[in-house]
Amino acid sequence: MYTGLAMSCIFCKIADGSIPSTAVYSDDLAYAFADLHPQAPVHILIVPRQHLASMAETDQSHIALLGHLHWVATEIARTKQLGNGYRIVVNTGPDGGQTVDHLHLHLLGGRHLAWPPG
Ligand code: 5GP
Ligand code: ZN
Repeated sequence: MYTGLAMSCIFCKIADGSIPSTAVYSDDLAYAFADLHPQAPVHILIVPRQHLASMAETDQSHIALLGHLHWVATEIARTKQLGNGYRIVVNTGPDGGQTVDHLHLHLLGGRHLAWPPG
């Protein structure tokens, strides 16, 4: 059951299984899946099951959820054996390069990642 903007949200539909994805991790609060267009050998997206458009929509009530999403990302990094390092990215808004309006963490690893980003 979707409400409001979530009705047309692709990541809500991926998280509830109505759009197929390659699952990497799942629990009551979060779902993680392989990015369709990977930018590194490991490129996983971690999303809250709750629809939140972006970091800009979060407040103090989301602190535990945001911590959980980061914990999921680091657990996945451990299982993918990214001991040499990795990057967690949260693009936010048009200037941040966000293209899907459902909050998501990118977990990128498996190669050296340049800095600064473009
Ligand atoms: P953003 O640019 O919003 O930070 O990242 C959106 C990401 O979602 C992109 O890396 C893009 O490849 C990925 N993506 C967009 N649509 C789909 C989809 O339908 N399935 C999967 N697995 N990834 C998607
Ligand atoms: Zn959504």
